[in-house]
Amino acid sequence: MIITVASGKGGTGKTTVATNLALSIGTNVQLLDCDVEQPNAHLFIHPFFDRTEVITTPVPAIDMGKCTLCGKCGELCVFKAIVVVAETVLVFDELCHSCGGCMAVCPEKAITEKDRELGILQKGHHNGIEFIHGKLRVGEAMSPPLIKEVLSHRDPAKLTIVDAPPGTSCPVIEAMKPADFILLVTEPTPFGLYDLKLAVGAAKILDVPCGLVINRSDMGDEKVNAYAAAENLPILMEIPFDRRIAEAYSRGDMVVDVMPEWKAKFLELFEKIKARLN
Ligand code: SF4
Ligand code: SF4
Repeated sequence: MIITVASGKGGTGKTTVATNLALSIGTNVQLLDCDVEQPNAHLFIHPFFDRTEVITTPVPAIDMGKCTLCGKCGELCVFKAIVVVAETVLVFDELCHSCGGCMAVCPEKAITEKDRELGILQKGHHNGIEFIHGKLRVGEAMSPPLIKEVLSHRDPAKLTIVDAPPGTSCPVIEAMKPADFILLVTEPTPFGLYDLKLAVGAAKILDVPCGLVINRSDMGDEKVNAYAAAENLPILMEIPFDRRIAEAYSRGDMVVDVMPEWKAKFLELFEKIKARLN
């Protein structure tokens, strides 16, 4: 089973839910942190990393000795990542989506591939949790290929919990795609509701069942609850504001370590998710 924990916006407690859910389940579970632009689940899980690999993506390299400047590569590329200008062919690596199309259409076989570094992937473990995350290279804008790489380490024999990037753009969709269930973490504020609606829209397009966790549930208004009722979205957990939770987060501590009574609540959340998939 794959549970993707997502939120329409950052700062809602998504990582707190993903990490504490994983730690509460404790065995036969893997946590994949797909927030590759700003991974932070490791700050709470404290894994021992035993593997680090550089992740690359192929981009075109032009042999100008063979190129006839016919322009077919530039005509094909919808991302404008390759263009024929005057007497040369320019490749904008950062715009390239590594589809290989230009290489396929080049009549002179003048295009080969070279590797462009996207970032690193690290694998580790702690307390029975297998932990994997990606770290995007500083300045790199293309996060979906690195997210795909992190997701490719999914072990079907285990429960997989995915900590998705915040937002509702391509990287989040990438992290949501393989999910059996999407757990949306939100807060009862106008901003929270606005972004929740976008996230629910994405889950509906992907046709993946979803449920809500309302964080700081006693600090806002009732509009998120009303929206959930109108959309038939189950509220699976409510986390009231508690200064001890905020303090644990700021220290990099797990809520279930500092307040062990929350372990039963996270296990109950897991049972509710399983029940909705049966
Ligand atoms: S590999 Fe695809 S995206 Fe990249 S330059 Fe070629 S056609 Fe464009
Ligand atoms: S398709 Fe090949 S030959 Fe034509 S401009 Fe591009 S690289 Fe040169």
